[in-house]
Order: sequence, then structure tokens, then C-alpha cells
Amino acid sequence: MKHLITFLLMAGLASTGTSQNHAAEVESLLKKMTIEEKIGQMTQVTIGAVGNGKEGETDAVKLKEAIQKYHIGSILNVDQHAMSVAEWHRMLTAIQDEAMKSRLEIPIIYGLDAIHGQTYTLESTLFPQNIAIAASRNIGIAKKAAKITAAELRASGVRWNFGPMLDCGRQVYWSRFPESYGEDTYIGKVMGSAAVKGYEEDGLGKTTSVASCMKHYMGYSNPRNGKDRTPAYIPEIELREHYLPQFRDAVASGASSVMINSSLINGVPTHGDKYLLTDVLRKELGFKGVAVSDWEDIKRLYTWHKVASSPLDAVVIGVNAGVDMSMVPYDFSFATLLLEAVNKKLVSMERIDEAVRRILTMKYNVGLFANPYPEKEAIGQFGKPEYKDFAFEAAAEATTLLKNTNNILPLKPGIKILVAGPSAQSKAALNGAWSYTWQGKDEKWYPESELTILEAFQQKIGRENVITTSGIGYDDPANFEVKALRDAAQNVDAVVLCLGENAYAESPGNIFTLDMPTEQKELIRAAKSSGKPVIVVLNQGRPLFITDMVNEMDAILLAYWSGSGGAKAIVSTIMGDNNPSGILPFSYPKYPGDIVLYDHIFTETIREVFNNNVGTGYDPLFAFGFGLSYTTFEYSDLKLSDNKMSANTTIKVSVTVQNTGTKQGKHSVELYTHDQYASIAPSVRRLRAFQKIELKAGEKKTVTFDLNAEDLEFVNAQLKRVTEPGEFDVMIGELKGTFDYR
Ligand code: BGC
Repeated sequence: MKHLITFLLMAGLASTGTSQNHAAEVESLLKKMTIEEKIGQMTQVTIGAVGNGKEGETDAVKLKEAIQKYHIGSILNVDQHAMSVAEWHRMLTAIQDEAMKSRLEIPIIYGLDAIHGQTYTLESTLFPQNIAIAASRNIGIAKKAAKITAAELRASGVRWNFGPMLDCGRQVYWSRFPESYGEDTYIGKVMGSAAVKGYEEDGLGKTTSVASCMKHYMGYSNPRNGKDRTPAYIPEIELREHYLPQFRDAVASGASSVMINSSLINGVPTHGDKYLLTDVLRKELGFKGVAVSDWEDIKRLYTWHKVASSPLDAVVIGVNAGVDMSMVPYDFSFATLLLEAVNKKLVSMERIDEAVRRILTMKYNVGLFANPYPEKEAIGQFGKPEYKDFAFEAAAEATTLLKNTNNILPLKPGIKILVAGPSAQSKAALNGAWSYTWQGKDEKWYPESELTILEAFQQKIGRENVITTSGIGYDDPANFEVKALRDAAQNVDAVVLCLGENAYAESPGNIFTLDMPTEQKELIRAAKSSGKPVIVVLNQGRPLFITDMVNEMDAILLAYWSGSGGAKAIVSTIMGDNNPSGILPFSYPKYPGDIVLYDHIFTETIREVFNNNVGTGYDPLFAFGFGLSYTTFEYSDLKLSDNKMSANTTIKVSVTVQNTGTKQGKHSVELYTHDQYASIAPSVRRLRAFQKIELKAGEKKTVTFDLNAEDLEFVNAQLKRVTEPGEFDVMIGELKGTFDYR
């Protein structure tokens, strides 16, 4: 009985966020509220709607109207760019002062997108984007980065973060691919859950935590045409197989809120999809937190998607489908229309109470009723020097070495180099989206103290050994001067070319081709023609096509967008202080017409013999899971504790890993399974577990995984998660074992 009670208590905590139960306070407050006050709580506006045009300043008249007349519950974002901690405190204090003048003194909850560190506080520490965190295969990094982000948010006075993004990155053209954990569902699950725990686990009442927001529920990440916020066509069986599990696990890990997919799946805008928002999210996943719309998305049910015939209809559809809070975000139309809808009995009072209950619960959980103001005691949590150290460690562990001809890397001490290319002196290209501004492009908001790649090289090997032809910022024309580069290369021993993509976020990052831009290819050719070794660093959010250039590059280092510690991580990898251990969390495609995911089914790779077309196998430029090291690892002795598994048993799979090279190194041991025959054509392999280990040169370790029926399950034609009886292969590296599931 005692166990049952403990279990029930824990289950309760898991699904409402990791905080105390404030049910009695919430009910008592709810009883006092007028309908207008309730509807106001469901309304969220952007700070610009109550600002005076100057960053960090509110307009007293507009703020008063928003809070006293419309009773708004939440405000989000910044107007244009990051502010100091002091400016945040001043602004939030003005907002809460006004909220405390309201009849029931209900505080405002402020939310924003701290997606790889606290985007919007100057001098904050930024971590690698999720795609790079996934490459590190280090779950601890995902969690610790979230913890530090939470500490810096809370120090700034903000208690609600719109992250982590849990959308599965199965569409490489998508401009938000870098915000994803890549193409694999399992990685997305474990990294996403770790992030949720990092944000919330300390307990939301404590000044070290913030409410997290799972986004964007769900299927947003695979638009058919690759462009942001455009329709996806994903059968439910696939939604459940690849896109839902991340949310299921994040709910179980205590996520406090969810943001809805801006777009449509199979023609149905998710903001109007009662089946997904209520039946699946609430009834099936047991989620009890707040569902917030994405930007303007209730309005868009009418203006874009045309499933609502009027703005009123849009509000009715969205709220009845299950949206609790509308990110309106520029006006108060939602509040007015929802009131009309309730008066016309188009939305029930029960539904309003349900939404407001959730919102108030989150506000209680994050301690806003206890103290609505920025917490002075949290200020000291901001900007600790160890955060920067950790940002470097995280970036170093993500860095993925894709090519290293003749072990040109690490470069030898005493070498003289040319550092060139558009990302050589661009902090934006090191950080990407959501970095001090939404787009992350504006160099002027980056901390002075943050190093560019050029500066990090100068620090490491001495100014006298580094020359450059690049200008400051990504777009400086000097970056693309081919002749200057070729001439300068004559005076050095090697060329380090820093290429890739400048920062972008959301729709401004839409792209028509992923080809590496011609001017970057010209730089590679010029460098190669100098006869010097060419080391290419790719600072990019998604895989640019480089197939025709690979032979011209002696080494390729994929650095992704790796944050505040990015430059140092790149340099320490090139110079050999960091032994790279990042591996790809996606399949790096060879051709635009041949994008096949690693977990494809067999039929997708049958080679066409007609027209001699042999290009339809799984033949990426670099496979999922690929990444080189300065040492070598060998696997032996794959053992299964049993060759039979049943619903209630666990098999132990062990393998011996040896560092057979001469350098200490980290390495992710990855376990894949393959269902030999199944009622739904099985994937050729699915990643089921990984463990990152570190071995000294020559050292050996046995790594053991527990495998059970749940690890093997898939979604069948009846949309049920099942593990079907039959033979399974288990694969680690080239080694393979087989067992029978009955
Ligand atoms: C994005 C969300 C973000 C929101 C608020 C939207 O455009 O899709 O991810 O949380 O804006 O900034």
C-alpha cells in the first residue's frame, strides 16, 4: 500500500511539473475570478505590445490597459535584443508592480526562448544548439546546459522557458533543424527529457529552476517542402513512431507546459486538432500542464489555414481543441473574442476553468504568488565563470571530425597558419539562432570577451603564427577574396577555412538549396591550389552539400553552431588538446535527390538496376553515427546474457571496448536492434541505447546495456506500441548477436 501511495504521488508530480500541489489555492482563487479575469489569464502578448519602443521599457498607459482592462496573464520575449540583468529586473518590476495593483493581485508570468542558454540576457553563456548536443551523445551535457540556462533565466527574473524543442529533425532543409536533436527518435527522447529535468528538477519553487515548455507539439519538423511553418503530411503511424515518444518522455520527466505546432499535419492545423491536443496529449499522455499556442496561431486558423470562417470561429476552434493560452501576440482580440464565445455558449465555462486552473497552477509552482518580483537572491547565479568552462567542454565534446586525410590533424606545434573564410571572425556563425537576438545575426550584441575562431588561434599558437584574409562578421566582402587567400596561403604551412552558414532562425532561414554557396567553394579551390593542407571548419546548422568538394579538403571538422565556447573548442580540437568524440546525429546526405534516413526500411534501399541507377541505397556522404577520433576503438566479445527474452525479462548485452590507439579519448558505444520480421516492414536498424565512455590509450572496458521488450517496440497498423514475437538482431559496431522474443 505504501508503495502504491508513493507511486501515485510520484505519478502526480511527474505529470504536473515537479512542484508542490497548489490545488486548494488555485481553486480558491478561481472562485473569486470574474469571467473577464479568467479569459485574461489565457491571453499572452509580446512585450512590444506594452512597450514604448525602447528596449526594456514599458509604456505605463499600455501596460495598465493590458493588465487592468484585459487582465492579461502573460508576456513574452524582448522587442529586439538582449538586455542586462539590471534592465530585466527593472522591466519585470514595472510589470509586476502593475499586476499587484489588479483586483486579485495575480502576477504575470513572463516567458521567452532561452533555447541554447539565456538568449536574451547580455553576457549570458550560450551552449551548443541541440543538434550539437545530440552529437556529443552526452546526456549529462543536455541536462547541465539546461540547468545553467535555468539559473541565468531566473537570475534575470524570468521563470518560464520555451524549450526544449523536441521536434524530430527528419527534414534537413528545415530552418529549425539545428534546434532539433537530429533524425533519431531515441536520441530526441533521452536528450529532451534530460533538458526538461535540467530546467525543472530542482523544484520550480527554487530559484534555480524554470518551467519548461515542450515544443512544438507535434510533427512541425517535417514540412513537405522543407520551409518553416508549411504543411506536413505524416500518417499517424509515423507520428506515433517518430514524433510522439519525445513528448511522452518529456511529460513523464515533469514538463510544465507545451507549445503547439504552428503548422498543419495532413491538412489539419494542430491548433485546431482536438484529437492531438486533447485525446492524445491529455488522455493518453496524461499531460496536466499549460498548452500555449505558438505565435499568432489562433488567428491564423482564420487568416492562413482557413479552417475557421472568422476570427471568433478561430478562437472557438483553438480553445475547444485544447489551447489554454493564446500567444496573440500584438493585441487583445483574443480576450474580447473569447468573452463573446463564452457568452454565446460556443465555449463552455468548464473549458475556461480548466485552462485557467492550469495557468494558475504553473504560476503557483514557479513561486510567483510567493514573490512576483525578480529574486535578488538569484542574481549571483548569473555569469559564473564555470559556465563558460562548461560551454567550452560541451562544444568540444560535440565537435565532429568527418575527414582527416593522412592524420593531418592535429596540427603540429610551431605551425604557421592562415585562418580565412566567413566564419573566421563571426560570432554569429559560431552561435546561430536565438543568440542575443532572435536571428542571432547581429555581431554587436555578443560579449566582447567571446572569442572568434581567429582570436582563439591567436591565443593558442601566438599572433605571430596566424594570419588572416577574413574581415569582421560573416558578410564582409574580404571573406570571399579568392586571390588574397591564394597569395596569403603561400606564407603559411596550412590553411584553416571557416565556412558554413550565418545565423538564422525560423522562416528567415528558409532555403531553396543546401548546396554550399559557390563563393565558399571558390575559397576551398583557391586554398587547395596553394598546395597547402586545407582544413575546413563547418559552422552550420544543417548539412550543406559538399560532395563535389570533399577531395579538395584534407580535413573536415563539423562544429555545428556550438555557442560561447565554440571557437576555443574548434581550436583545441585542431591543435589536439581535445580529442574529438562527436558523432553525427543525422545522415549527412551526399545528393539532394538521395536523402535517406539511417533507420529506413529495407525496401527503401533496394538498388534499382534500371538505367544503371544505383543511387538509391543508404549512401550518405557521412552516415548517422559517424565521427573520427585521434585514437581508435575496437569492439570484441559481444555477449547476450540470454538468447531469449519475454515481456518481463531483461537481457544484458555487453561488449568489450578497447582504445587501440595512442591517445586518451571519449567514445559513444551505440546499440542498435533489428526486428527480423514484423507486421510492419521493420527498420534496418534502430538506435536503442548508447553510453559515452572515456578510455586511456590501451585501456579496455566492458560496457553493458539492459534491453527489454519496451526497447524493441514499434507502432503497428492498429497504432498500438507492440513488441512482436520473433528473432531480433542486436548490433554494436560490426558485432552482432541474435535473440528470440516470445
Ligand atoms: C516560434 C516559437 C517561439 C515563439 C516565441 C515562434 O515564432 O515558433 O518556437 O517559442 O515564436 O518566441
